[in-house]
Amino acid sequence: MRPKVIVGNWKLNPPRERGTQLFGEIVRGLAARAPLPRGVEVWILPPTPFLALLDPGVEVSLGVGSQDISLCGYGAHTGEIGGELLREFGCGLTLVGHSERRCGGEGDALVAEKAVAADRTGLIPLLCVGESEQERDAGETIAVVERQLAAVTGALSEERPLWVAYEPVWAIGTGRTATPGQVIEVHRALRDALDRGGRNGSATPILYGGSVKPDNAASLLGSDEIDGALVGGASLEANSFLAIVDAAEA
Ligand code: PEP
Repeated sequence: MRPKVIVGNWKLNPPRERGTQLFGEIVRGLAARAPLPRGVEVWILPPTPFLALLDPGVEVSLGVGSQDISLCGYGAHTGEIGGELLREFGCGLTLVGHSERRCGGEGDALVAEKAVAADRTGLIPLLCVGESEQERDAGETIAVVERQLAAVTGALSEERPLWVAYEPVWAIGTGRTATPGQVIEVHRALRDALDRGGRNGSATPILYGGSVKPDNAASLLGSDEIDGALVGGASLEANSFLAIVDAAEA
């Protein structure tokens, strides 16, 4: 059985003092639960400045990652933050293709380049794919996520690690969650597409994201097809985030 992976995406939250406090609360909560059974992995993706501040201080199974990555290495690239620097600040993975960045104009080709940049600099790319409500209503869900996946698998060698998060755009930050049945259908299609592309779909972690909360986490994470959760809003409160971790362990 694949381990469950719970990833908290803080987006552009919270202010500095609250962020350090929240991180401490999560660390203490995880320390109290250690070791996490079933190999549950927990990651936090804070806004970049926090990377310099957040120090667990105790031995705890918690990874930190980035919400985005630049294509640039060190050099004259004003405003960019590349993978080498992220690695130096302890990042182990980065999101690529989050819908909030695709909305800002990032297309499949750039997302694929970012996945390759992540891999080249030693970060696991966690690729976000997902359809809009309009695309779902038009019956295009599988075609959309397969297209988004294919852009990356076409650019990244088959043997390199790739994690995927299925995040229907209509479920992100809306309080609407895809049903386990809807998620499982998409995850199976993604695994088949990975197999067809020469990867091992059944060895690829595929997470779900979209308004995951303590009250719906157990029904989603109870499925062997759903390898974890990418959590936005509910990762900003230690109690709700830890309750989702607990649901992954159950
Ligand atoms: C996300 O940020 O990827 C996300 C799924 O957010 P939320 O849990 O708030 O829907």
